[in-house]
Amino acid sequence: MVVEDVFEKLQSLQDILSEKIGLERDIGEIPKLLDTQEELLARLKKSFIEKNQDYEKAKLSEGDFRNLLAQAESDREKAEKNMDSISTQREYEALDKEIRDAAEKEQQYRKELLREERVLSDLDEQIKQSESLIEQQEKDLEERRAGIEAEVSEKKAQVAALEGEEQSLIPGLDPEVLFKFERIIRNKGGQGIVAIKGGVCMGCHMILPAQFANLVRKQEEIVFCPYCSRILFYEESEQGDEEFFNNEDAGSLADLDDMDDDEYDEDEEEEEKVNIDYEE
Ligand SMILES: [Zn+2]
Repeated sequence: MVVEDVFEKLQSLQDILSEKIGLERDIGEIPKLLDTQEELLARLKKSFIEKNQDYEKAKLSEGDFRNLLAQAESDREKAEKNMDSISTQREYEALDKEIRDAAEKEQQYRKELLREERVLSDLDEQIKQSESLIEQQEKDLEERRAGIEAEVSEKKAQVAALEGEEQSLIPGLDPEVLFKFERIIRNKGGQGIVAIKGGVCMGCHMILPAQFANLVRKQEEIVFCPYCSRILFYEESEQGDEEFFNNEDAGSLADLDDMDDDEYDEDEEEEEKVNIDYEE
């Protein structure tokens, strides 16, 4: 395949590859949009579990106070009943003390019980809230996930279509050149083939050795920029390359004019320079 056809194919391939690479990057990045929401949901679930554990603890404690209260009540009632059968002042005083002690405990346990009941009802409220929050979050997440899956599968379909186009362009291209080209596009922001203009690589803006410009200009082989590894094609600079070719050939301007007339059709349209140069 002639070099200019290769260039033309590479230009088309470059568009396809950079679009494909962009899509593949999106496909990798999109699911990360859910990360924050998934973290929030995990935190909510953790706190839900902790609240339930607190509730279980408070429930046990409530049961304990309920038992203690019942015990104190029955102690008091028993002592009150015994009041009917006492005969001495000392017995009366002992029983009276028992009743007062039991009543005091009753009061204390009743207070504790009330406190636990309040804790339980607060926790119950919080558990219900966090339950509905979790439900809401899960629903949101599910919807977003479905949306994202649709988006990803649409992008995958686009990638597959681009790969089809890519396959149709590949025949006739050197696999090694192709491999390097794809790698350059991945690493260099979508640009794998650039012009050399006035001796300067338009990809990395480095001034290239004179023999490089000549090599590119001859279009006999694929030339890679020694600095940025991009594939180079020749493009006439507005100022021309006189200075450049002077260095290379160590000749005079007159020599250069001769060379231009003989070897390059400098009078042709600017845009068509690359092709015309080759056909010469
Ligand atoms: Zn370069």
